Amino acid sequence: MKSPHRQDLESFERELLQALKRGRCLLCDRIMQLATVYVSVHATEFGNTCAGQGRCYPYLIPYCPNCELQPKEKGCIHVPMFAGLIGGA
Ligand SMILES: [Zn+2]
Ligand SMILES: [Zn+2]
Repeated sequence: MKSPHRQDLESFERELLQALKRGRCLLCDRIMQLATVYVSVHATEFGNTCAGQGRCYPYLIPYCPNCELQPKEKGCIHVPMFAGLIGGA
């Protein structure tokens, strides 16, 4: 799979979990390799601008060395960051 780019956390983790469970390539049935990808967390409040609080987490992302390019070393997910701050309890 590819590194996330402006993806929401839920769909990224769903995709990641499915790929990890599968463990093999859908196309050639080869065992997936894992690549370390540093995923930055950006705020959806900033729209398409990649900005956030500078948090970054390493993820292991499976990919097929036969059918796919190695995932990019860096990616980002976009999550609501200020929702809890504004008008929250
Ligand atoms: Zn493959
Ligand atoms: Zn971003």
